Amino acid sequence: MLADRLADVDERIADAARAAGRDPAALTRIVVTKFHPVSLVRELYALGVRDMGENRQQEFSAKVAEVGDLTDLHWHFIGQAQTKKARAIRAAASVVHSVDREKLADALHAAAGPDASVLDVLLQVNLTDDPGRGGVAPVDLEGLATHTAALPSLRVRGIMAVAPLDVAPEAAFAQLPGLADTVRAVVPDADWISAGMTADFAEAIAAGATHLRIGSAITGPRPLHG
Ligand SMILES: *Cc1c(COP(=O)(O)O)cnc(C)c1O
Repeated sequence: MLADRLADVDERIADAARAAGRDPAALTRIVVTKFHPVSLVRELYALGVRDMGENRQQEFSAKVAEVGDLTDLHWHFIGQAQTKKARAIRAAASVVHSVDREKLADALHAAAGPDASVLDVLLQVNLTDDPGRGGVAPVDLEGLATHTAALPSLRVRGIMAVAPLDVAPEAAFAQLPGLADTVRAVVPDADWISAGMTADFAEAIAAGATHLRIGSAITGPRPLHG
């Protein structure tokens, strides 16, 4: 059952935090609801979940609109974003985890209305050598941080990363503290690290993750999709 899976994951998060000498209460557990019907969002809400994540703009915008009555939800956009979708993403997101190039930061900034609040963003870093995996190359992270930090409608909160498929997560996540320091050299209070999914959230917590993006361990297998 959903409630049992949620409780089980939260227990494993707390165990991993304590094992790393960290306070479980300082971690934000985001439940990734992609491909699931919006009814799942309401079930999660009833169980106390307030941070939800989606990775495709159309599904994201539609779901956020359908649960517009749940005003204390925080929606995290975690997928690759096209600049032409920046307005829709900005309108629906509390946090955008996937800013990986200057053009996207510019588009999100340009999408701010005159009375828009400041949007929290994370800079997504590519931990692989494959540019197709999304994320800025580590060597370009400082430049992206400097550029994004200069856009007044965006607030750089830290970094986001996805573990590569072909490397042990411990090894990949070992890069996170150094990458986070690179951003903090530009934005001193940017102390969020979004990392960790169903298969690797314990390793991410050990490496300093503050925001975990967990889908299937909580929601069950995703419905078939194309
Ligand atoms: C789908 C997705 C997740 C969650 O994946 P699970 O393995 O189901 O926990 C996390 N982050 C991103 C970027 C995703 O697209």
